[in-house]
Amino acid sequence: MNTSKLIDGKAASARVMQRVREDVDRLRADGIFPALAVILVGQDPASQVYVRNKILRAEEAGIKSLEYRLSEETSQAELLKLIADLNADKAVNGILLQLPLPEHIEETRALQAIAPGKDVDGFHSENVGGLSQGRNVLTPCTPSGCMHLLEETCGDLCGKHAVVIGRSNIVGKPMAALLLQAHCSVTVLHSRSINAKALCQQADIVVAAVGRPRMIDEGWLKPGAVVIDVGINRIDEHGRSKLVGDVDFDSALPHVSAITPVPGGVGPMTIAFLMKNTVTAAVQQAHAQRVSPEAACLSIS
Ligand code: NDP
Repeated sequence: MNTSKLIDGKAASARVMQRVREDVDRLRADGIFPALAVILVGQDPASQVYVRNKILRAEEAGIKSLEYRLSEETSQAELLKLIADLNADKAVNGILLQLPLPEHIEETRALQAIAPGKDVDGFHSENVGGLSQGRNVLTPCTPSGCMHLLEETCGDLCGKHAVVIGRSNIVGKPMAALLLQAHCSVTVLHSRSINAKALCQQADIVVAAVGRPRMIDEGWLKPGAVVIDVGINRIDEHGRSKLVGDVDFDSALPHVSAITPVPGGVGPMTIAFLMKNTVTAAVQQAHAQRVSPEAACLSIS
């Protein structure tokens, strides 16, 4: 395998985490202790794993984590009350509500209840609107991680044609907004797109966020394209369960100039950017509260 083409998300996320740790150390020296509240409602096994990983990574970065594990039967009113209490608590800088929620809870209502300044997932409509207006707001972690990988790989993205496959609120749409902010020409493809493959063949940059194993093979790609594979799909192959992306990695590799593997590409970046957002939120809150002149001078690397 030509490893020089691999975009190493593990190594990139370790570099982001290192900078986060340095920022946290500076904040702590100034009497600011970044804290992330993580709320999990119910027993979804995958969510339990995600929450455990997020808490571990927060601890690694020196960020205090507060865990709220609520039963499946928690009412919407109880969840909203907890979010309101966390919004009001000055010791909490970021609030993460693990999705999916049980069916009896309205996801949008719960996400909208989180104060925009503590919305470290960047899902509140105020942050979504701010992103589309190019304001400096908390942005969703996975697309932010993809942008970081693209900027490290390609340098200046100005003028490049980027194709985003998928238009979900958590990946596709914010990804397109970030690429537009970086002065790319952006095409967004989805399940109703006509000639999706032909459009994709024109792209300098392809971001695949579809949720369909190996859908994008070399036939979709312009020679030399840079490919970011967001997809995480579990399949059974030769009697073994394995994770694959939305891109057919083996078919794409000889054709592209750079590509993220699955696993080890975009996945590790998502948590690193969650930690980065928590620190950003802590700094912004310190500025707003004018904790000290020193804190007001702190900036995020
Ligand atoms: P969604 O299911 O919310 O969205 C999938 C998108 O793909 C939709 O916009 C859909 O179009 C589009 N789509 C479906 N079929 C096709 C097709 N044949 N051609 C073109 N577009 C198509 O998924 P998410 O955005 O939440 O996630 C996408 C993938 O990324 C999943 O594999 C998920 O596991 C992974 N993921 C990985 C993360 C990470 O940290 N690495 C984080 C989040 C997600 P339409 O809107 O028309 O239905």
